[in-house]
Amino acid sequence: MQDILKLLADIVGPQFVSDSPEEKLIYAMDPGTMPPCEPDIVVMPGSTEEVQKIVQTANTHAVPVVPLGAGLVLSGLSRPLKGGIVLDMKRMNQILEINEISRYALVEAGTSQGMLQAYLQKHFPNLKHSAPDAPPAATVAGNVSIHGSGHLSHAGGFHSDMLNGLEVVLPTGELVRIGSCATSPYWFARAPLPDLSGLFLGWAGTTGVITKLAIKLYPSYPLNDVGVFVCEDASLMPDILYRITGAQMAEDVTAWMTPKPDWAASFLHCNVNYGARTPKELLWKRNLIRASVEKYINEKTGGFLPLPSMMKNRFLEVPARQLSLFADVRKGGGFEYVGAIMPVELFPQAYDLGLDVSDSVGVNYSMGCRIIGVNHCMMFFYAYAFNRADPRDVDRAQAALEKTNRQVVDMGGIPWKAEAPAQKEIIRKMDPNMFALMGRLRSTLDPNGIMNPGNWEEG
Ligand SMILES: Cc1cc2nc3c(=O)[nH]c(=O)nc-3n(C[C@H](O)[C@H](O)[C@H](O)COP(=O)(O)OP(=O)(O)OC[C@H]3O[C@@H](n4cnc5c(N)ncnc54)[C@H](O)[C@@H]3O)c2cc1C
Repeated sequence: MQDILKLLADIVGPQFVSDSPEEKLIYAMDPGTMPPCEPDIVVMPGSTEEVQKIVQTANTHAVPVVPLGAGLVLSGLSRPLKGGIVLDMKRMNQILEINEISRYALVEAGTSQGMLQAYLQKHFPNLKHSAPDAPPAATVAGNVSIHGSGHLSHAGGFHSDMLNGLEVVLPTGELVRIGSCATSPYWFARAPLPDLSGLFLGWAGTTGVITKLAIKLYPSYPLNDVGVFVCEDASLMPDILYRITGAQMAEDVTAWMTPKPDWAASFLHCNVNYGARTPKELLWKRNLIRASVEKYINEKTGGFLPLPSMMKNRFLEVPARQLSLFADVRKGGGFEYVGAIMPVELFPQAYDLGLDVSDSVGVNYSMGCRIIGVNHCMMFFYAYAFNRADPRDVDRAQAALEKTNRQVVDMGGIPWKAEAPAQKEIIRKMDPNMFALMGRLRSTLDPNGIMNPGNWEEG
């Protein structure tokens, strides 16, 4: 590895490569419950050419390479399970183009959500991108590559659906462009060419390194509001969500269930975020959203909460900071969640599962879901809090996550951004021919098996 260290220092400069124990410790873990795995070397490339040279070097010497954005995925996907090189993309953070008319942003892979959001607010206040509720340091590429979702997902689907094109360094070092950018100077769409972006989405960095990407932008409204619909019966939620999303007035529809404070425990809440250009349009949208669930208001089985402005402002925040506060529920603050992608009709079973797991394992929970598309599916999350300094508490959270993953798969859902053990649960249920095809594609792209090994593997 000392020889590799020297070769990498020649590529990026000695200040951007390290094998010091303290750096290796930091890159060995993420904020979730997965145990640490130390890299041998950490390197920070400054350009696509440098990424190519690093990957070529790793390929020649059959050393693992693990791409890393902000390392905030929580499920340990950017921990180097088999050692090798962690490729930290944060220096590659240029916003290369904003196309105002065709509404897209072209960015380098290390660009963070916060940087893009701030840049648009300053220079293009009429445009916004769909931001996840992750801390602002999370990268656009890391999030798109795992099929993330965010505050425009009701309108636009998964963040991978909002992708216009990719530039990728293949595991053998070649550079490839995918989407309209393969043929045109414009990064306007993935259609109409064969869509090869799927080779790099959902693979947890096992098929290549994204160096640039273009994502769709959307109109930014000067006026924004939120309504919180509540009911007490989980079996009503699929229809409530169906009606609210059917109105197609909202940008983001999210549900949340929490045992604290006590008054909130018996309610299921559904936040409906919407925006408008004028007060009249805002009122019109509010009325149509209300009309969509009038049946439940009339039957007195549900209704909108009157919101004090402090609470309303919190619900309008992007990203929603109150989510991260859950990490502080336990002394020593930590949390990890299973994000289960599943059909919306499974909401009641999904909710019961969370109650059952937290009760049987004895962990604090917070549950909720984000609607993807017009009720096309949901990301149902089960967040469990733990005290990082207490190994028994971490074990309990891990047991709750494992049990949830297993039962989600049995219910017909699919754990999202699944950690290596949960990937095996998914593979257990997966069409064997799909898994075999994944293996064939992977060995074609990555003949020496250097990209994030240990993920999407059997056994
Ligand atoms: C409080 C909180 C709230 C959250 N809310 C949301 C939410 O609302 N929506 C959501 O989608 N997520 C959410 N997350 C999860 C996660 O933080 C985000 O998905 C985040 O965007 C991941 O990006 P990252 O840069 O941290 O990726 P990383 O953790 O660095 O990487 C994720 C995966 O992508 C791969 N990868 C990273 N960069 C590249 C690259 N350039 N090329 C190839 N592969 C790459 C890595 O190898 C890894 O497998 C939340 C997390 C927290 C802590």
